[in-house]
Amino acid sequence: MHIIWLRNGFNVVVLEKDKIACKTSGNTTAKITSQHGLFYKYLIDSFSKSYAKSYLQANEEAISNIENIIDLENISCNFSYQDAYVYTQDNKYLSDIKEEVSALNKLNFPAEFVSNIPLKLEIIAAIKFPKQATFHPRKYILGLCNSILNSGCKIYENTKVYDVKKDLNGYVTYTKNNKIYSRSVIIATNYPIINFPGFYFLKMYQEKSYVIAIKTKETLPDGMYISKETPSISFRTIDCENQKLMLIAGGSHKTGEKIDLKNRYNNLEKIAKSMYPDCEVLYRWSTQDCISLDKIPYIGHFSQIMPNLFVATGYKKWGMTSSNIAANIITDKILGNSNQYEDIFKATRLKPIKNKDELKNMIKESVNSLVIEKFKLPEDTINNLNVDEGKIVEINGKKVGVYKNKEGRIYQVNPVCTHLGCELSWNNLEKTWDCPCHGSRFDYMRKFYLFS
Ligand SMILES: Cc1cc2nc3c(=O)[nH]c(=O)nc-3n(C[C@H](O)[C@H](O)[C@H](O)COP(=O)(O)OP(=O)(O)OC[C@H]3O[C@@H](n4cnc5c(N)ncnc54)[C@H](O)[C@@H]3O)c2cc1C
Repeated sequence: MHIIWLRNGFNVVVLEKDKIACKTSGNTTAKITSQHGLFYKYLIDSFSKSYAKSYLQANEEAISNIENIIDLENISCNFSYQDAYVYTQDNKYLSDIKEEVSALNKLNFPAEFVSNIPLKLEIIAAIKFPKQATFHPRKYILGLCNSILNSGCKIYENTKVYDVKKDLNGYVTYTKNNKIYSRSVIIATNYPIINFPGFYFLKMYQEKSYVIAIKTKETLPDGMYISKETPSISFRTIDCENQKLMLIAGGSHKTGEKIDLKNRYNNLEKIAKSMYPDCEVLYRWSTQDCISLDKIPYIGHFSQIMPNLFVATGYKKWGMTSSNIAANIITDKILGNSNQYEDIFKATRLKPIKNKDELKNMIKESVNSLVIEKFKLPEDTINNLNVDEGKIVEINGKKVGVYKNKEGRIYQVNPVCTHLGCELSWNNLEKTWDCPCHGSRFDYMRKFYLFS
């Protein structure tokens, strides 16, 4: 959502399936930064120096745009400037850090190679980006909502969009009980809700990460930090109800990956305890985001054959700046203006896929879940299902997803995703059925979509 549309007299309606800020943006670690891991050498090598420079500039501008919106709309959301670091504790990544610093210096960005960071960690090396920022994401989003409502526009929560179809003057957006007619529609649903045209399910996957919030008597440093190692660990502090907490995020994996997930939070807690032995874990949660195959967000026209239908997705866990860039690009398109960054993020791009390994993975996963697994009957039966266990078993010649809760009650579901029919996999940490193809998630009764 962008305030500029409102200021230009547009009649805007926001339709939200659940509650505002209850999904990824309300659960993010909210570093507002152009430092997207080690990324700029990749951009120069895979695209060009001028492409990398524009990407960097767009993200740097987004930081100050967000500050300006906060000032203009008077949003109290703990915005503060902080330095951002990517560090490594492994000698084998030293050259990667050095090459990234040199790539950034070629782009005239004042990135700095450092051997120490304010965080309580022994490191080999790090790259420092000055003057990045953090805020409280929920407070920011709710502040934006106030501005939207004060401008006379409408927000409808608990209003799921089922479809968007072209009509003579624009589009019809279908909810359960209503149709909304508009000239333009923006699909900002994290994972696009329309499959055809667009075909975003062929060029994107979802990754999940886990977050804990700890408190300690020790003094927590400012700054934000992420490791180069895979999966990476990320740190930032946050002011929460008059106390300073540290957010520690990590344990990423592809959503629906068939792996044991039980220790994801324990691993983060071990890291926390090793750094702050007195610490107490106050909160823990997980969330997920979409990643495009070339690691660049998809922003702009949804499809070449659907004018005035727009999309913003594929933020690869850097959606704070990317969504601001998206808001500006899409606003310009709606107002009939050009935007200097529109080509960088063009959603209808047909460039060769850069991330060939992930493409192979996606194809393998889809073939496996759509074809191979579907026709294989499982050897497991419901008789050897343990308490608090979920799995796919054979019942009367059919595959059934079963979960036995701690009281011994068994819940049966059809283990097939409603999106495109992939076979779901059991998530033994959060007791959900997750889709390995495109990242939809269902609770163990399949009553609710958790993410779709
Ligand atoms: C663990 C983690 C940490 C992260 N940390 C950072 C960070 O430090 N800095 C950063 O820049 N980025 C970070 N990100 C990424 C960032 O949080 C996301 O890129 C961003 O929040 C995604 O925003 P979104 O609007 O696309 O999705 P969402 O915030 O999920 O919003 C989409 C909304 O659309 C609604 N919706 C879905 N389907 C429908 C429908 N059919 N009808 C109506 N509404 C619908 C959903 O309910 C939801 O509210 C992180 C991501 C993760 C997973």
